[in-house]
Amino acid sequence: MGAMQAYNGGCHCGALNLRFETAVAPASLQRRACQCSFCRSHGALTISDADGALRIDAKVDALVRYRFGLKTADFLICARCGVYVGAVLSEGGEAWGIVNANVLHDRASFTAPIEAISYDNETASLRGERRKSRWTPVEAFNV
Ligand SMILES: [Zn+2]
Repeated sequence: MGAMQAYNGGCHCGALNLRFETAVAPASLQRRACQCSFCRSHGALTISDADGALRIDAKVDALVRYRFGLKTADFLICARCGVYVGAVLSEGGEAWGIVNANVLHDRASFTAPIEAISYDNETASLRGERRKSRWTPVEAFNV
């Protein structure tokens, strides 16, 4: 793996900003098309790197935390422009997140094949373990 590279992005109006750092080349980073109805409604393509870092900055009153299903993670949506930027799982003072690759300025560089994945049959505990092992550690979440 090479050096860490930072990819910036966020919602359409600029109220939510993300910085995703990874040493994996963007063309090699798995893109997941989660098959749940929320992700399909947004056309989201999910990326993460357990060895990377994620930073999220939200302007005052701009962040909607949407929970559904097992309600174990916050799906982050801009209250002003409606863009779904990613999701965060918080537990025991730590947090892990995923990014919707479509919101990154450099989205065109993320060209790995899209894998359609369904997590419908997971229990809450298996879901938590999967996320903590695969999602990106959140180094800052400023709201
Ligand atoms: Zn916005």
